[in-house]
Amino acid sequence: MSVGVRVPFLELLPGTQELRRELDAAVERVLDSGWYLLGAELDAFEAAWAEHCGAQHCVAVGSGLDALRFILEARGIGPGDEVLVPGQTFIATWLAVSAIGATPVPVEVDEAHHTLDHEAAAAAITERTAAILPVDLYGHPADHRALRELADANGLLLVDDAAQAHGTRLHGKPVGTYADAAAWSFYPGKNLGALGDGGAVTTDDADLAARVRRLRNYGSARRYEHVEVGYNSRLDELQCAVLRVKLGHLDAWNARRVAVAERYLADLGGHVTLPVVRAGADPCWHLFTVRHERRDALRDHLEAAGVQTLIHYPIPPHRQGAYAGTALADAHLPVSDAIAGTIVSLPIGPHLSDADVDRVIEAVASF
Ligand SMILES: *Cc1c(COP(=O)(O)O)cnc(C)c1O
Repeated sequence: MSVGVRVPFLELLPGTQELRRELDAAVERVLDSGWYLLGAELDAFEAAWAEHCGAQHCVAVGSGLDALRFILEARGIGPGDEVLVPGQTFIATWLAVSAIGATPVPVEVDEAHHTLDHEAAAAAITERTAAILPVDLYGHPADHRALRELADANGLLLVDDAAQAHGTRLHGKPVGTYADAAAWSFYPGKNLGALGDGGAVTTDDADLAARVRRLRNYGSARRYEHVEVGYNSRLDELQCAVLRVKLGHLDAWNARRVAVAERYLADLGGHVTLPVVRAGADPCWHLFTVRHERRDALRDHLEAAGVQTLIHYPIPPHRQGAYAGTALADAHLPVSDAIAGTIVSLPIGPHLSDADVDRVIEAVASF
């Protein structure tokens, strides 16, 4: 018997309401400027996001998927090349590789952290491998030191899919700084979310940044000169102005997520398998995922108690229709499959109240 949703998985409206005056002022500033693309708001947001990420360059683009794709394309990766990707991730990680005609090579994630297993990655390297593309899944950093060594030892590009990791740190350094370039998403539900789609590339590599800058704008660095086949994938002034406002609150909002995660970690241990924080990691807790052998029954129980949950992700990329009929559909990924069958995400967010956290804990504990 459902009593209706009392604790929604994630609500975006309270965040918009909290910042409403600042957002209104930012939107009004853009409206009154008469300039809506590739202007001062973009420049200011790129500078601010680069600084937050500890990177020398930031290029904002239309989505996280485009950010990933442009990094790979900017380094000349394409047909015939292989890119190592985790077996368990949001499918965009794989789609970016497929979009440029390269081959995603799935590698198992490690059971504890759900991120690319560096030993499995080492075993998957062939003479065609061009890049390693780990994901900081759920906001937990991948094993970046080991992956950096692996990439360097084999002359490979290391790209961080940091689309869920705004503010995550590893050994005190912002995630993304271990890789040659990092891709970010500003999808509304991410820790730093726009009021629509958006993405960015951060890097210390000036050439790579310049190339991504061209790719997002019709292959052009100077107006009406097109030196390569590019795309239209620009982050507009309105979204940049909104993101500048929200970036000012990211650290505080992440701190609230950390507080919620600490309560779950302290109180749920006897009831579910808890996420494991890597040594040296400060996750941004984009998602709080737990595992249970009777996951579907647990979800039903929580729903009956008014607690909304989601599964990230119920179908791993290799089992998606997008890869049906390809060799990828036959990939042997028992760990990724097991995670998909047992994982569930509990409500977490910067505006989840203490009372809601109590309700979630009571509901899980009474299963
Ligand atoms: C959200 C996400 C993306 C894609 O970002 P979009 O902005 O939605 O295109 C890529 N990878 C991961 C891991 C994501 O969570």
